[in-house]
Amino acid sequence: MSSHAIHGLTGSDLAERARAVLPRCHGFARPIYRQVMTDGRFDPESFGLGPVACRAWRSEFSFELPELVAVRTDEGDRGATSKMVLRLRDGLQVESVCIPMGRGRYTLCVSSQVGCKMGCAFCETGQMGLLRHLTTEEIIAQLLIARHRLGWPIRNIVFMGMGEALDNPINVFPALRVLNDEAGLAIGQERLTICTVGHVEGIRLLGQQGLKRINLSISLHAANDALRSELMPINRRRNLAELQAVLMEYKPRRNFVLGVNYCLLPGINDAHADARAVAEFCRPLGRVLVNLIPYNPGSIPLTRAPEDVEVERFIRWLRAEGLPVRERATKGRSVMAACGQLGDPSTRRDRRHLRTAPA
Ligand code: SF4
Repeated sequence: MSSHAIHGLTGSDLAERARAVLPRCHGFARPIYRQVMTDGRFDPESFGLGPVACRAWRSEFSFELPELVAVRTDEGDRGATSKMVLRLRDGLQVESVCIPMGRGRYTLCVSSQVGCKMGCAFCETGQMGLLRHLTTEEIIAQLLIARHRLGWPIRNIVFMGMGEALDNPINVFPALRVLNDEAGLAIGQERLTICTVGHVEGIRLLGQQGLKRINLSISLHAANDALRSELMPINRRRNLAELQAVLMEYKPRRNFVLGVNYCLLPGINDAHADARAVAEFCRPLGRVLVNLIPYNPGSIPLTRAPEDVEVERFIRWLRAEGLPVRERATKGRSVMAACGQLGDPSTRRDRRHLRTAPA
């Protein structure tokens, strides 16, 4: 029987499993869990357990992190943006990005899948297709490596790396609980954000999890069906009206603010009519905040990066429609760590390992 990865469990899951399989020494579950999650090490000996008990703990439970393959850093005005590349047990690679938020605070953009099957036209990861889902422990491992191997002072987590988080709810929802668990990582729900391409079924499922303070943002990028279907194939399956309907139902708390991400693609979605369509889409959704993201041309550019004046003009149009807007500065371009750029060439070569990608 294989051992359970401690970092894929909540503290109470670990205590329960330990009680079942280690009747004589399960009482150490709480300090062992805290040590793994807050110090990044699994050392049952340090609690004075005898050799037999330590061997029992090590045979029933494990703590192994993926191999850190590379770290690439891009110095910016507000701090360095760094991308780490991890090699998983099966040899596939996955990436996470540490983004400076100012005042010494950092957000870790984590991956939820190797590759992605959503196929968004502007996204490097989308070019890979889906290789496989990440497990809960592989998601948590990204934070543990960032904090304990690299010393990155991560405060917030956003599921906006490789993959569509709501396409992998079976691992992402437990990961949210592990991140939020007071017994270990204790990251407040308000510091966790799920970013989705607009996965209608996934949004509905998220609403049923009882995680009322978690943040949700959707990638809109176009507010007319013809263009959105071209940019984001998911729109052919679930159009804007269906996305709008599920978002109107998604009201986890009174002061909930939906994030609406809009990647500005010059000549494609930056006309005045596009801004008006965004406002039309958002109007029935309650409180929203539009995050305007200037396009980063990757290795297969869809168009050029927008000029500052074009970004400012689009923001002006949105604000004139009554929408609150924040421009998200583009960070990490030179290390392919910017939005839509994850899945660098070495990771994309992993496609040749493609075996049985779950649907
Ligand atoms: S933008 Fe997100 S959902 Fe779309 S292909 Fe890229 S990783 Fe997948």
